[in-house]
Amino acid sequence: MATDFNPFQVAQAQFDGVADQLQLEQEVRSILRFPLREFRFQIPVRMDTGQIKVYFGFRVQHNDARGPAKGGIRFHPEETLDTVRALAMWMTWKCAVADIPLGGGKGGVIVEPSSLSVGEKERLCRGWIDGIWKNLGPRIDVPAPDVGTTPQMMGWMMDEYSKLTGQYVPGVITGKPVGSGGSLGRTEATGYGVIYTVREAMKYLKLDPTRCTASLQGFGNVAQYAAIGFMQQLGGKVMAVSCFDRKDHCSYTFSKVDGIDPHFLQSITDQYGGIDKIQAAAAGYQVEDAMAWLSKDVDVLIPSAIEGQITGETIGMMSERVKIVAEGANGPTTPEADVELKKRGVFVIPDFLCNAGGVTCSYFESVQNDANYYWEREAVLRRLDQKMTTAFQGVLAMSLQREAFMRDAAYMVAIDRVVKAMDLRGWVSVSYTHLRAHETKANLVCRL
Ligand code: NAD
Repeated sequence: MATDFNPFQVAQAQFDGVADQLQLEQEVRSILRFPLREFRFQIPVRMDTGQIKVYFGFRVQHNDARGPAKGGIRFHPEETLDTVRALAMWMTWKCAVADIPLGGGKGGVIVEPSSLSVGEKERLCRGWIDGIWKNLGPRIDVPAPDVGTTPQMMGWMMDEYSKLTGQYVPGVITGKPVGSGGSLGRTEATGYGVIYTVREAMKYLKLDPTRCTASLQGFGNVAQYAAIGFMQQLGGKVMAVSCFDRKDHCSYTFSKVDGIDPHFLQSITDQYGGIDKIQAAAAGYQVEDAMAWLSKDVDVLIPSAIEGQITGETIGMMSERVKIVAEGANGPTTPEADVELKKRGVFVIPDFLCNAGGVTCSYFESVQNDANYYWEREAVLRRLDQKMTTAFQGVLAMSLQREAFMRDAAYMVAIDRVVKAMDLRGWVSVSYTHLRAHETKANLVCRL
């Protein structure tokens, strides 16, 4: 990844491109190009040694015109405010494209979570809430887990918020453990959601899924269930996955000539998505370099690790056979790589559509918290499939109608909905002629 890669600039460039196509008014652009609110705060944590260490936390609320801000909290040693801003903006589009009544937010802490003991992690989680709780709430901003954070951490955060407010408030945070206000199906929701969209793309492209192969970057929450779903639900083969090795501080690709077994790999993977190299090699897996996943001769690529991986520099490694890039991760593809993907006619399922399964299930979790009534796993996954399929079809309809690249079409659907909500609330007054012009089969599909 290039060191000068700035995800917020990428997010803004993507927005600007579509804003031009839609001829969006300046007042609308100036609201949407930047977050509505940003918080940066210190989190002093007492370490097991007795010393206080100060961490830095962030929370960014990009837009809440359609409902409370929503988005994960990342614990990552290279976290930056610009990464959080970009991810918050993408959450606005993601919630809008999935047509759930939420806005976009994101949070983070600059920390390597594996360097902390369980007690230190708990104190850091509670400290994050102590620093920001007045700006959170089920009707204000609802965080969730993301890279480096877990359901257990969400449970601690919910408990801290409940203590501070003097009442049990499960709806302040989602991705909680089942039994503590969490929803069944949340663990697999993002990865399965990726696969529901891949299935729809294959139907459109008239590909037989049982003859298709995939290669994934990452083997954390998203990639594990995307790999399982690709095999179990579609009947396809997964040729490779990759992960970051915390001991070596570098990444590896794990592949097998006749396809990997995601259940086996899961059994030798730690809680951070790191695969045990020695056990994998002993089981006959090839352990290759970090970017080997990208050069596999497969039909589908599913980048599901971090941002900025398919770039102008790395795209040359991609096989001509690739027909679908399904973006499980947020922001894995740069605008320079998009140009080449368009040229090659690769069908891209853009991140904020492809990985919307997690936030959709989080929304279901809030609904269950509000009702204090919990659904069966099958009901959760059925509703998730319905939502993801409808969202995909809406974007595809827009793409065909406007002859637009799928990423641009997803932006059009999302921006249309957000601008409409801002207009209805009186934040801006727009003529809407540019939007009405494609009032849209996409929206009609999405409301079915
Ligand atoms: P995770 O922490 O569970 O797993 C991340 C995986 O990526 C791990 O296997 C890690 O080893 C690997 N990784 C990290 N850096 C790498 C590198 N340079 N090369 C190869 N592998 C690398 O995270 P996750 O929850 O699976 O999230 C992955 C991506 O999906 C992130 O971009 C996240 O923002 C996005 N996302 C996650 C969810 C969710 O519900 N978990 C929802 C939407 C989007």
